[in-house]
Formats: sequence, structure tokens, C-alpha cells
Amino acid sequence: MTKPDAHISAAPVSAALARIAPSRTTAMTDRAMELRSEGKDIISLSVGEPDFATPVHVVAAAKAALDAGDTRYTAVGGTARMKQAAALHFARDLGIEVPAAQVTVSAGGKQAIFHALLATLNPGDEVLIPAPWWVSYPEIVRFAGAEVVALPTDAAGGFRISAAQLAAAITPRTRWLLLNSPGNPTGATYPPEELRALGEVLRANPQVLVMSDDIYAPLRYTPGAHATLAAECPDLAPRVLTVSGVSKSHAMTGFRIGVACGPQWLIRAMETLQSHSSGNPCSISQAAAVAAFEGPQDFLADWRNRFRARRDRVVAAINALPGLSTPVPDGAFYCMVDAAPLMSRFGNDDALALHLLEHGVAIVAASGFGGKDGFRISFAADEAQLDEALRRIAAAVT
Ligand code: GLU
Repeated sequence: MTKPDAHISAAPVSAALARIAPSRTTAMTDRAMELRSEGKDIISLSVGEPDFATPVHVVAAAKAALDAGDTRYTAVGGTARMKQAAALHFARDLGIEVPAAQVTVSAGGKQAIFHALLATLNPGDEVLIPAPWWVSYPEIVRFAGAEVVALPTDAAGGFRISAAQLAAAITPRTRWLLLNSPGNPTGATYPPEELRALGEVLRANPQVLVMSDDIYAPLRYTPGAHATLAAECPDLAPRVLTVSGVSKSHAMTGFRIGVACGPQWLIRAMETLQSHSSGNPCSISQAAAVAAFEGPQDFLADWRNRFRARRDRVVAAINALPGLSTPVPDGAFYCMVDAAPLMSRFGNDDALALHLLEHGVAIVAASGFGGKDGFRISFAADEAQLDEALRRIAAAVT
């Protein structure tokens, strides 16, 4: 579990801020950039960011928006055109039919999650998060004054929670369940029948809202269509917020566009907060995201194949090293590497992460994700970089 930053907890910040730590993924990425600017040769596999160029038609749409003077405030939750494009994405790619009025657009999926949780949590509320989890989920929950309830998962169980585990964890104070499929940092991907089994439990617990973070849906290596709770259990859709975006699928991380759909009361609540935070998502980025959702999607299959090949390369290389192992992730572009046998040598996974950094590879320790004794590799880097990083990891641990 992450600890609040010592410098911050000593400073006159709010009690809410003192409860949280900086993002471990962005902190390691910043550190890698800093070391590079000092002339060090660092390969960063710390951040989940596709290395592919943003598609040409998306970049052209952003340029056209600038040339057309599309540089003003927009509606708080996004332009009408943007909301329609997001609704098209939810229907076509996730199987969720939703009117544009139940869609909102924000500065990355992260802001949608932040607003949804801040808008609904009260002190004492509990939020169920399958662990290992994405670094920002528990920090946002703590910032909102609510309690994180970890639902531990392991490689043997595919890093997925079971219906029985969910049923045992729910209390009258449970406000949210956070689901992420395919998941960061494990790649865990829920098949439809498992989502329906979770749905059965949720039906019996009407106080629980569900956040389904589907940002990695286009990056699935399992056969069949993507499964998501709101589509598998439409009767539950009135309490499911589904979050998606263009960052991962369309290599648009810097544009900062996330989309969410859910019940109208929640969308309104999120937009009320957004009206006082960022005001609206960037006008130029919205034009680019419309092109991403409405334009050709055929390149996605090619990107997915390249990611799959990289995944296989990383999994094989890691599993060939003494003391390291990783299961084959079903989706996203991360491997959760177990390094437990190396802990007698390094002490903990933060020390191992530092050791790897000294050998020129930036990764994020498993403890940043509510895991332990391991690290996450992002394989969203080109093949030559991955091969060199794997050589450096081998040299560092053997
Ligand atoms: N979601 C990506 C990651 O986990 C980007 C960085 C972040 O927002 O955490 O690496």
C-alpha cells in the first residue's frame, strides 16, 4: 500500500490530501524522464502508453479544429457531437445502447472516475476494489474520505474475483464496486458468465454502484466479443458507470479525453463537479476524439496483434529468468511479474525497482498496485526497446 508523501504530510495541506500519495505510475515515469534529461540511458516500461503514432486522420481533425477557431469553451460535459460519438462507441464497441444525455466527456478516464467517486462517497462508505488494482483507484477513494476494501486476487485465479468473494465482502456500507476488465496491472479479463454471476450478487445488494472501467476493451487477446456488466446485465445498468476513452486504443494519451456513460443522475452529478474543476474537456481534443470514434477502426486489429506478439516476447523472456515469473495476461499491455524468490536478496519490491532503475529500466513495483514482491512491466514499447530492457533485467537479477 502506498504511503502519503512525507514532505506533503508535513506541509499545511488538507486532511484529504494528506491521506493520499502521488501516483506511482506517473512518479516513476517522471523520474525516468528526469534521469534521461541528465543523460542517463533509461528505458521506461513504467507507463501504460502506446508507442504507436496517433492515427493521421485524428491528428488532421485536431489541426482542422484549430484552423476553424474551435478554441473556446464547450458545454461542460462535452459538445453534442462529441457525446454522440461517445454514444456510438459505447454501442458499437461495448454493446451498451445509451442516449447521448447519459454520456459525459472528461479530461481522461481518470477525471471521470475522480468526479464519480467524489460526487457520491461519504465518510464511512466502503469501496470494494479487486487487488492488484490500478494505482489511482484507492487514492481517489481515500481522498473522498471513504474506506478501501481490498478484494485479493491471485495469478492462479486469473486475478479475477469470484461471486462468492464479492458476496462475502459486501456490507450495508458498501457504496461502490470497482471493476476493470481487461485490468491494469494484471490484464485480468472477465468472461461474460463470470460477470453475470457477479450481477446475481449485485442484484441482491441494491445499495452498491458499479464502476466498470473498460478503457482497455480493444486490447483483448481472448476470443469472442468484449463483455461488460451493463451489457451482460442490462437490468443493473441504472447503477453502472462505464468508463472508456481514446488514450489507450487510439494512442491519444496526451489529448486527455475520457468518456463515461451511466444513470442520468450520476452523469449530472459528475458534470456539476466538472463545471467547477476543468470546466470542460479540451475543445481541440474533443474534435480529435470524434474522429477517433467515428473514423476507421481497422488499424486496431493490427495494433492488437503487435501487442500480442510483444506480450508473448515479454512473457517468454521473464519466465526464462531465475526468480521471476508471470502468467500470460489476457488483455491490456501489462505483465504482473512475481519476484518473490528475489526478495531475500532485495528486501522488498521498491528496492528491486530501484535496482532495475540503476540498470537502466524503469518499471513500477507491485506494492504500488496493492500487490507485493513483484513489478509491473508495460509492454507498450517497441520491440527493440523491449528486447534491450529484457536484457538489462536479466543482467540485473542474475
Ligand atoms: N494508466 C496508465 C498506467 O497505469 C497511465 C498512468 C496513470 O495514469 O496511472 O500506467
